[in-house]
Amino acid sequence: MLLGCIADDFTGATDLAATLVRYGMRTVQVIGVPDGPLPEADAVVVALKSRTVPASEAVSLSLAACDALLAGGARQIFFKYCSTFDSTAAGNIGPVAEALLRRLQSGFALACPAFPANGRTVYQGHLFVGAALLSESGMQDHPLTPMRDPNLLRVLSAQVEGSVGLVPFNTVQAGAAAIRREMTRLAESGRRFAILDALTEEHLLAIGEAAAAHPLVTGGSGVAMGLPHNFRAAGLLPERRDAAALPAPHGSCAVLAGSCSRATLAQIGVARDHVPVLELDPLATPDAAALAQQALDWVEGRLSAERPVVIAASAPPDRVRALQARIGREAAGALVEAALAEVAAGLVARGVGRLMVAGGETSGAAVGRLGVRSLRIGPEIAAGVPWTATESGLHLALKSGNFGGRDLFLTAFEGEVA
Ligand code: ADP
Repeated sequence: MLLGCIADDFTGATDLAATLVRYGMRTVQVIGVPDGPLPEADAVVVALKSRTVPASEAVSLSLAACDALLAGGARQIFFKYCSTFDSTAAGNIGPVAEALLRRLQSGFALACPAFPANGRTVYQGHLFVGAALLSESGMQDHPLTPMRDPNLLRVLSAQVEGSVGLVPFNTVQAGAAAIRREMTRLAESGRRFAILDALTEEHLLAIGEAAAAHPLVTGGSGVAMGLPHNFRAAGLLPERRDAAALPAPHGSCAVLAGSCSRATLAQIGVARDHVPVLELDPLATPDAAALAQQALDWVEGRLSAERPVVIAASAPPDRVRALQARIGREAAGALVEAALAEVAAGLVARGVGRLMVAGGETSGAAVGRLGVRSLRIGPEIAAGVPWTATESGLHLALKSGNFGGRDLFLTAFEGEVA
């Protein structure tokens, strides 16, 4: 292993892993702190759920992940957080980054959440989402991590003991050598972190190159783009055309949808015209085991290796509100997640070998029920949605509710011929 990564949430880990594969590293995503030998790969991404937990817990999870990655041979550690710098009042970006620096016996790390392809840019240390400052982008109202200050120097300074400098646009624009010089100057003048301006992918690639010798790099998945090249330039990573190769898929195809986002509802609508679709009604049957049984009875005789079946609990907002009003918001989510997780296990037992799950929480529930510990990352079906393979060869595509075009449930399986 060359690059060891620690991601503070699950879909962020997948996004980072897909980026590393795109830039030529064979990558495996491990779910939670690894407790055994790490899988064979150029990069390993440990997916934690540490973004909004108490800071001390985030620190101990991240250090445990770091130790496992170092034991597995990692030559550089990447700490991945959200491109909107999502953090609570207590951190957790700063405390985790500072603890990792100490563990790596290093005195300096860069911090750059920029992700220009998704409209996240940093200028004079201020984070923009599209044309809006972070604090006017909607993120100021986020339920768990409201971001009310767009000045990342201030935000990070408040989270760390060390001081924070800036590598401004002009320096970044001048390229890797200029960035490296400025980071050295900041480190020598006692700064522990630097926010780096970045407006384009060229900037991110130059920043990655400048960080080749850093034990710790922190940022969004964008800044990881430049890291694979460093390992190639050092003769450690061969040119790989097969970084996204997965073991051959087998078995029949299915989609499980638990997301109620607009994109997923539209994807179900398109699928309805082309493939068998079952829409579960948790309002009529508010019982997880009974819902799962309905779905598994329905799939009898319908499974195929040629086209997917779609099983959806997804519903428009009025139906979701009705169930929440009857049994409570958390219980409604938990009920549907439990039902779909049980369906996932039943489908795999019935020979499904290629499964797409729509919804972040729904994916977490399904992966937990299936006992999946790691995912080898394959080709991307849509931006941020790769096919992956579990240890047992099951192909899984886990998509955040809002991702993918309208025909995703059909096109996802087209290149995936068993
Ligand atoms: P997204 O990625 O779109 O946020 P999630 O899976 O993370 O999707 O969240 C959707 C939540 O909605 C899950 O907790 C799921 O169990 C719940 N849910 C799905 N269908 C229904 C429904 N018909 N009524 C109430 N809640 C539902």
